[in-house]
Amino acid sequence: MRNKKLVFTLLIISITFCSVVSLYYLQRYQNVKHQSFNNTAKQALHQLVYTEREYSVWRDQLLSVMELLSHSQRLIEFSTSPSIQNKKVLEEVWESVLRNQKWYTQIHLLDLNGIEQVRMNYSFSDGIVTVPGRLQDKSQESYFNYAKSLQAEEIGAWGIELETDHGELVYPYKPILRIITPVSAKDQVAGYLVINIDVWNLASRLNFSPDHDVRAEVVNESGYYIASHNNSKLFGDSIPERKAFNLKKIAPKLWDHISQEQTGYIFEDDNLFAFNKVSLAAKQKLFLVVQLNETQLLQRAERDLDDLAKEQVIVLFAMLIFAIPFAFVVVHFRRRNIESKLARAALNGMSAVMISDKSHRTLMINNEFESMTGYGGASLEGKNALKILFENTDDLDAMKRIWTHLADEDIWEGEVTCKTKLRLPFTAIMRVHAIKNASNKTSYYITSLVDISVRKELEDRLRILSERDSLSQLWNRRKFEEQLERHSLLCERYPNEATCCLALVDIDHFKRINDELGHDEGDRVIQAVAQLLVTSLRTTDFVARVGGEEFALLMPHTSLSEAQLVLNRLREQVEQTDGTKVTISIGFTDLTSNSTRSYKCADIALYESKSSGRNLVSLCGSQDDIA
Ligand code: GH3
Ligand code: MG
Ligand code: MG
Repeated sequence: MRNKKLVFTLLIISITFCSVVSLYYLQRYQNVKHQSFNNTAKQALHQLVYTEREYSVWRDQLLSVMELLSHSQRLIEFSTSPSIQNKKVLEEVWESVLRNQKWYTQIHLLDLNGIEQVRMNYSFSDGIVTVPGRLQDKSQESYFNYAKSLQAEEIGAWGIELETDHGELVYPYKPILRIITPVSAKDQVAGYLVINIDVWNLASRLNFSPDHDVRAEVVNESGYYIASHNNSKLFGDSIPERKAFNLKKIAPKLWDHISQEQTGYIFEDDNLFAFNKVSLAAKQKLFLVVQLNETQLLQRAERDLDDLAKEQVIVLFAMLIFAIPFAFVVVHFRRRNIESKLARAALNGMSAVMISDKSHRTLMINNEFESMTGYGGASLEGKNALKILFENTDDLDAMKRIWTHLADEDIWEGEVTCKTKLRLPFTAIMRVHAIKNASNKTSYYITSLVDISVRKELEDRLRILSERDSLSQLWNRRKFEEQLERHSLLCERYPNEATCCLALVDIDHFKRINDELGHDEGDRVIQAVAQLLVTSLRTTDFVARVGGEEFALLMPHTSLSEAQLVLNRLREQVEQTDGTKVTISIGFTDLTSNSTRSYKCADIALYESKSSGRNLVSLCGSQDDIA
């Protein structure tokens, strides 16, 4: 049962811990992923900066070569005087340019009618410069019309177009970018210099990246790819089956962005697009774009995410290890809590109970304890409750008695008198139970109190009734005998202490009073004599009515001579009392350890007084012979 509870608690704690940890790591996972994606985007932007620089270098080189060639003396000479000699010289210059630059596939010069004047081809694959046997008429080519629209000194770009042969695309595809500028001679346009660019070479330069995933692609203003590491998506504007490879359609959000910003990055449909804008000729723009799909992005984040996953496993493992002792504590605490509730429920409704620790510091009290003593739990907590209850009582040794007893025994039980918070005494039966541990050392004390004040009061009243004489309110014979015995024992224990005297008093001729004045008057006389005895004697003296009209006196710390004086004074006072005239006869003795003999002595002395004429005080000492 307990194991089941433990396993269940462990399960709950483990699930809770795991959920919290998982939620936390889910959040961290998203953050790390986001962070990694942004880092990749920044890396892509860096790559674009590099590519842009590469492009600028290429472009500057191209423009300066174009300028040099269009203004070269050899070209101007040939334009003004197109002799075989001048053509040869010009071809020599161009050949050296083609061989050195390597990324032009053709240089040709068109006259104002679009007829080729000079042409040289360069094959990038074998590095050979060739001069075609037959020059062509390019007047119908669209780029020639474009060339005619150019101003003097203006350098324009046309393309990229795929080379065609009789209206059909040449395969493998030959993308051509033409750089065109008018050639001026004697302040007049004499023709057009056209350089065809090796687009593959350009593309490979721009595509270069140390990181395979982060490679720039070049997109033209219509959204078609003109340079990419993936050749199959190039030239969608010329190849109908590749029309779908259009960035404008693939990522419309990006396209919006591109039109507004010079550079930046955007996440669209789980793809990262970083872009940069460059210009080719004055009015032509090209877009450098780096695209990474979700798989590529996740691959790049993988290492960080792996580290995070490892960390999560370690934390979960640590949590589970922590969960085991935690579950024990929870089960233990819950059990303790239930036990303590049960204990409280059990304690309440019983007698007053207080639980204290081994140092007598109060740990817990029940409701009955509070209502009996007036002390609340808070006012007693951590304090010695018994010390407080016994404070200001006559029974200061009670605690000492209890703890001494409990040093050897498990239980102490007895009657105690305590005081409530309002200093009202109450009598209780106290039971202190010492709860001991395995090594027999006391761990706790359980103290219970049963208030017996009412019973005690009743007992006191009954005792008084049983010890008092109802007519005279003096002690009765039974009480006298008890006191006689007690004083006699004191004499035995302390033989050298001061003398205690015993006297017997008898009213003389009392029968006559009854007979002559009635029984009621007889009673009144008994009461009057009793009253006189009590008021005349010391408070430490003991007066009892031991027979009809007989009284016994015990006078501690009184010598025989002192007793003689006191008793005679009493006798006289009775004699002189107003009202019915009575006298008393007294016999007395000094008390010894033999109470029966002492009583007998006193009785002999009384008999002596009676027989000697009454209204007398006679002594029969303890040393006298009474046999
Ligand atoms: P003596 O001087 O020898 O003591 O004579 P006495 O008459 O006093 O002696 P006795 O002992 O013969 O008489 C005592 C009388 O007291 C007998 C009894 O009727 C009476 N008596 C005893 N108890 C009471 C009482 O409670 N009230 C009244 N009124 N009389 C009582
Ligand atoms: Mg008598
Ligand atoms: Mg008498």
